[in-house]
Amino acid sequence: MRLLDSARHVLRDVHVFVFPSECAGCGLPDVGVCSDCGDALSAHPRLVDPQSAPATLTIPVVSAGEYDVTLARVLHAIKDGGRAGIARVLSARFADTIRAFEQGFDVDLTPAKNQVAGEPLRLVAPPSSRDNRRVRGFEPLNLIAHHAGVRLWQPLVSSRRRADQSRLGLSARADNMRNSMSTRANVTGASVVLVDDVMTTGATLTEMTRALHDAGAHVRGAVVLGHAVRRWPHPRSRQL
Ligand SMILES: [Zn+2]
Repeated sequence: MRLLDSARHVLRDVHVFVFPSECAGCGLPDVGVCSDCGDALSAHPRLVDPQSAPATLTIPVVSAGEYDVTLARVLHAIKDGGRAGIARVLSARFADTIRAFEQGFDVDLTPAKNQVAGEPLRLVAPPSSRDNRRVRGFEPLNLIAHHAGVRLWQPLVSSRRRADQSRLGLSARADNMRNSMSTRANVTGASVVLVDDVMTTGATLTEMTRALHDAGAHVRGAVVLGHAVRRWPHPRSRQL
């Protein structure tokens, strides 16, 4: 009997993994993402207030909205729960935010026409961790962009091993990220817009900007699927 129970448990786990039957946002049964959570994930793009971003971040950031619990759960389900099938639900949020950036900064990021003064303007994704790619078998941000009809460029690589950012505090994240990226493609003279899923401390976007700028690229700004709302130290007391 015990063996049968174990087999049942394994089969149930396999079934849940292959056929996820709960809303990734709220747990409602028999749906990938329910309509209420789908609505909650629609974009409300805004320029992240420079006063609320870390002082090291020198580029404008357009965010689809706050990094709230629904977005956190859905991103977690895609990134760590292997639920690639629900990436599509974030494609409209991504596309609408790209559009807001285009309108706000008078540029065109569609693949066929992404030109700024004759130069292509390209969307740059952060370097992916080899470990994450091997475990997941897919790149969550690339998948969301693909569903949104957008192509991402990955000219950056991690030039050294970093600790897991999610376990670190504000200044430790900046230290962990600093000088950790380099370019693997020629970016000299390229105009780029950075893309990331969530901006928490801004350390990733800051390092992407530094690496691309040092290699001769012009970083116009960034688009993120969500930004963590937090209080930063007063500018005079910023340590970063
Ligand atoms: Zn739901």
